[in-house]
Parts: sequence; C-alpha cells; structure tokens
Amino acid sequence: MPLIVQKYGGTSVGSVERIMAVAKKVILAKSQGNDIVVVVSAMSGETNRLVSLAKEISDPPNAREFDVLLSTGEQVTISLLSMAIAAQGCPACSYTGGQVRILTDNVHNKARIVDIDDQKIHGDLSQGKVVVVAGFQGVDDNGNITTLGRGGSDTTAVALAAALKADECQIYTDVDGVYTTDPRVVSDARRLEQICFEEMLEMASLGSKVLQIRAVEFASKYNVPLRVLSSFEDGPGTLITIENKKMEKALISGIAFSRDEAKLTLLGVEDRPGIAAHILAPISEANVEVDMIIQNKGVDNTTDFTFTVHRNDYLKALDVLNELTKDLGVREVIGDERIVKISLVGVGMRSHAGIASTMFKALADEGINIQMISTSEIKISVVVNEKYLELGVRTLHSVFGLEEA
Ligand code: ADP
Ligand code: ASP
Ligand code: MG
Repeated sequence: MPLIVQKYGGTSVGSVERIMAVAKKVILAKSQGNDIVVVVSAMSGETNRLVSLAKEISDPPNAREFDVLLSTGEQVTISLLSMAIAAQGCPACSYTGGQVRILTDNVHNKARIVDIDDQKIHGDLSQGKVVVVAGFQGVDDNGNITTLGRGGSDTTAVALAAALKADECQIYTDVDGVYTTDPRVVSDARRLEQICFEEMLEMASLGSKVLQIRAVEFASKYNVPLRVLSSFEDGPGTLITIENKKMEKALISGIAFSRDEAKLTLLGVEDRPGIAAHILAPISEANVEVDMIIQNKGVDNTTDFTFTVHRNDYLKALDVLNELTKDLGVREVIGDERIVKISLVGVGMRSHAGIASTMFKALADEGINIQMISTSEIKISVVVNEKYLELGVRTLHSVFGLEEA
C-alpha cells in the first residue's frame, strides 16, 4: 500500500474546526488506499506564546528547559487530531518525538535528527491505524527533549518520509504551493508547478519561510518526493523535485527576502594578513553566524570590513567587536539593524549573463541604494535599507516578468 506522510502547519490546525477539517482530509487520503502518517505543528501562535512566556522569566531562557516548554505545543495538537480522526471513525494513535524515538543530537533549540525508530509506526500502520507524530521535537541520547528550530515540523515530516521510504511527503499549509515570491508581499506572485531542490534550498536559506531549510536538505539528500499544498483548498500544489527537462526554463524562478538581517562595519582596520580571521574568529566563538562579508582596501594601508549577521545576534556581535577594537586599533565600529536582504534565485542564471546588471538598474531606477552584493551560480543577493523591502521585491518581480505564466 502506498505510504504518504502529510504535515499540517500551525494555521491548518489553528482551531478545533480546523483540526476536524484536517481529520477529514486524512481519512479521505486513507480511504483512497494509502497508509497515512501525519505530522502536526502547534496551533498557530502557540509557539510564539510559549517563547514570550519563557522570556518573561529569563532571557535568554535555559536551553534545555526552553525545549521542554516549546515541545508542549505540538503535544496538544497530536492528541486533539488523533481524537478527531477517531471521532470520525478511523483508528489513530499519537506519538511525541521521544515516543516514536526521533533521536537527535543534543544541541537544544536547533537539534538535528540523527535517527528514527520506525518500529512503532510500522506496527500501527499494519493494524490499519493513522499515526500522528509531533513535529519539531525529538529526544537526545540522554532522554532530554530537543527541538529542531522554528519551522522544524517540516523537517520532522521529511525525515519521517525518508525513514519510512514514503511515496510522497505532503506539506499542507496556508498557501497552495511555492510561489515566485511571498504572495503576502506581491499579490500577483505566481504558483510554481515544480521547483528543483537546488532552487528551493536557496529560496529557503535566503528567507522564504514556506519550508524549513533542513527539510529541503533532507528531501534532496534522500530524494523524497515533496509537495507543498493548501490545507484549505484542493489543488496540485508545488512539487519539489530533482532538476528535469520538463521544468520551466525560466532564468529566475523566484525572489526570496529576509528581514532578519543586521550589518556591522569596522572602519580603519589595519590592512595585514590574518586580519579577517582575527575579526571573525571571536564572532564565531560567540556562536554568531556570519553571512555576507565585504572588505574594501583603503588608501592609507587600512581597510573597511563589513559583514552581516542574523538580527537576533546583532548586539552580541557588536559587543564582541567593541571588545576587539581595543587591540586592533580600529578607527570606528558602526552597525545598522535596519537592513534587509533581497535575492533572485534561478538555475537559469548559470547560463545567462546580464541578470545582475538588470537587477541593479531596476533597483537604481526606483532610487534604491544597494549596500552589499553577494552572488553564487544560481543566486544574486543585495542588502538594502529595510524601508525598500516591498518596493524592491515588487520591482524585481515585475522587471523579471515573474507574474507571467
Ligand atoms: P506553516 O505554519 O503551515 O508551516 P508557514 O507560515 O511556516 O506555514 O509558511 C507558509 C508561509 O510562507 C505563507 O503564508 C507565506 O506567507 C510564506 N512564504 C514566503 N515565501 C513564500 C513563497 N515563495 N511561496 C509561498 N509562500 C511563501
Ligand atoms: N511550532 C514550531 C514553530 O512555530 C514548529 C513548526 O510549526 O514547524 O516554529
Ligand atoms: Mg512553517
């Protein structure tokens, strides 16, 4: 019998009515002759509520206790959905991450899945039950509850699909697929029929929150057929798959953006070998991830050094730099929290020149100043002032004709 893993996000299970509607969809898929494993998120808003509660008591919260707290959101929805499925006449059984045994490493708040024990699930499926598993959580080898980072239920679903060798992993959400850009920002964004793993990986890592990046990494590594669909309406959704000949030969597949950026600059740094390492080593020791980096040679044997970090890490990075300036003889440290990153993504860029200049000209025509640029084979990213986010994304979406079929 075909096996399908379905994942329902927070909005899809945001009320009792929604949970009843999801139960109906699950039972329909089962009645069509499939084994079904369902992964659910916490009810919408719940994880944010738990985060705020913890922060009212201590900020940052103790990482282990934070995970114990955050995992409760999903425990509520697995039990309710299981009851709802049973109430509609189909046997179902719910499991927390620890009960299935989704084994993770011990990095609290952003744990990685190491292994999944599929015995209980197979046992239940063979008895005709629907299995409902809590997303976003696991357990480390000491029995501590761990969580997988925000958006982590996507990763639970894909990892389960890989472990169970499912025929498809379906991610049900509040949009009916992956769009050329966030449809909440560009109203004429277009749903993509298909997108390849490589592009989806870039979109996710550059800020498109429709799929957690680790979910895409997993799906790509284990070749799990992955589809993003709406839980509110029927439709084909978007298939994420390996690059194939049938795919649209678009230059640009999508535009991703991230509001979670901040920029730090050291002015007048002595220009000598080892200086970049000297600046960035303490940053990484402070567990701050660096994204873009620019170094400009000055005239007087000094250099300006700029890099971006996640906005949550801005103050931490600034502290580290202020400490560093004492022994580096830096003229000044400046920072900017009001920046965003906008990125064009497309495998078609590999074989086409001139995309960057079209992009830069389009932004210039709107009076948008580009502060930083970074490119790879299949993406171009720019950093701009946050007030230009919507204008920048809409302008590029239209200049590259992404709304046209
Ligand atoms: P869930 O709670 O179901 O996991 P998320 O909020 O995590 O849902 O992800 C769905 C949201 O992702 C959409 O509501 C949409 O605003 C946003 N999004 C961002 N970029 C895209 C994109 N390119 N295509 C579709 N949705 C996108
Ligand atoms: N509930 C978690 C979150 O809000 C995990 C998820 O929904 O994927 O981030
Ligand atoms: Mg999500």
